[in-house]
Amino acid sequence: LNRRLAEFGTTIFAEMSALAVTTGSINLGQGFPDTDGPEEVREAAVRALREGRGNQYPPGPGIPELRTAIAAHQLSRYGLSYDPDTEVLVTAGATEAIAASLLALVEPGDEVVALEPYYDSYAASIAMAGGTRVPVTLRPHSAEEAGFRLDLDELRAAVTDRTRLLLINTPHNPTGTVLTRAELAAIAELAVERDLLVVTDEVYEHLVFDDAEHVPLASFPGMRERTVTIGSAGKTFSFTGWKVGWVTAAPELVAAVRAVKQFLTYVSSGPFQYAVAEALALPDSYFEEFRRSMLARRDILAKGLAEAGFRVFRPAGTYFITTDIRPLGEKDGFAFCRALPERAGVVAIPNAVFYDDREAGAPFVRFAFCKKEEVLREAAERLRAL
Ligand code: PMP
Ligand code: GLN
Repeated sequence: LNRRLAEFGTTIFAEMSALAVTTGSINLGQGFPDTDGPEEVREAAVRALREGRGNQYPPGPGIPELRTAIAAHQLSRYGLSYDPDTEVLVTAGATEAIAASLLALVEPGDEVVALEPYYDSYAASIAMAGGTRVPVTLRPHSAEEAGFRLDLDELRAAVTDRTRLLLINTPHNPTGTVLTRAELAAIAELAVERDLLVVTDEVYEHLVFDDAEHVPLASFPGMRERTVTIGSAGKTFSFTGWKVGWVTAAPELVAAVRAVKQFLTYVSSGPFQYAVAEALALPDSYFEEFRRSMLARRDILAKGLAEAGFRVFRPAGTYFITTDIRPLGEKDGFAFCRALPERAGVVAIPNAVFYDDREAGAPFVRFAFCKKEEVLREAAERLRAL
């Protein structure tokens, strides 16, 4: 592995999912649902495949039906108007969208400010682009219900003359934080004032709970022309294996990301693109039911974890719960997660992998709740025996 990437070996998700298999544990580590998305969407994929739609290279920017559906989704949900021909790009999952955006927009030596803890591919993609990552750490608020919060002064202080881009993620993996309208407005003001580009990973846009609200960064004044917004059918429709993601942005930004994408994968997911185009047109009831079912699961797992003695940061979004293991007399999340399959038959992710400052992340452990209710109840039962 070259020097830029030497620190990135196997992702923690692969390591922990393998451990779940070898120990026969319940896998609450890697975030993938144990129930596939809607039957009619699967049928749409089968139909496309049978009818020979998408079995050969689809168009570079994605099939027109899907680009139109993505634009319609941004318009109907958020009032954001994008031209399907020049302002939408289909990618091989959000993962490629992130990598291609950073490779397209970051020059070697540029600083990229990212919220820490950050989803693991951010650090690797910034490194591939030759950029320098500058973390701004979300910290637990003294009011338990507030969860992990962004300090706006720290964010402002992190921006230097070398900063090229802000890499934002809301709803936030792994903390479950949903940035508020006021926080997003402040981020937008900063981006405009310092003339920064923004890449915003909004793959959990449909998973917000309680009073939280997802507001796209691109909808703030001055942001539409500087913001690359990323979505994912893996997350929104529970088809993580299909690898269909997308980017919406101004034409020059989409053209730049597309220039990179064509040399990473060229195109991807042919027949699945047709199915996702249909999925995006599902009635509101699908999105509402998806949210409601994840909320019920969040509550089951949060209660179980609290009863088992963890400090639980109740997430306002995503399908992850971050916990603090110190009330259990533990302090090293890595050691805890490596031992947990043997001790309790459950797999979780040590949040330290999402931090530059591993010490700061050490006591936190993430559990995924995108699993059947009975699976979560069984996991909770096992954890109570710790
Ligand atoms: N961003 C975040 C915050 C994620 O949690 C994930 C998936 N776990 C991705 C991006 C990657 O999405 P995809 O599977 O569509 O590549
Ligand atoms: N995004 C998923 C998670 O956070 C994992 C995706 C992956 O394994 N790359 O768990």
